[in-house]
Amino acid sequence: MKIAKDTLSFILEVSKSSAPKEFAGMLQATGDVITDVVVVPGTESSDESAVMQLFMLPNIATVGTVHSHPSGNLRPSTDDLELFDRKGEYHIIAGAPYNESSWACYNNKGERTRLEVIKYEFEEDDENW
Ligand SMILES: [Zn+2]
Repeated sequence: MKIAKDTLSFILEVSKSSAPKEFAGMLQATGDVITDVVVVPGTESSDESAVMQLFMLPNIATVGTVHSHPSGNLRPSTDDLELFDRKGEYHIIAGAPYNESSWACYNNKGERTRLEVIKYEFEEDDENW
């Protein structure tokens, strides 16, 4: 599995701007490349954790989840592991300071998994690399 560089940048930016609150979303892919993040509505205004909001989402077509850890600890919590097991196969945790190395991807068993970052040509979007 791969992720578009722009999509990863978006995740890191939104995670940073949401801090100290958690950000959460669902990942969508085009072929074998993660290209889209469906942001969970209300993540920033609710007192509930972002992960709890992901649990409540209907099962939309998705390859996995993304959420932030403002603490910077990239290890999945017990709630995270339960979520990973239920929603999709790829799960990104983005932690402070939200740079290119402060994120991790896990499979649905909570094991670190490799996600290759690639340049992806979006058909409609502007391309600013
Ligand atoms: Zn978490």
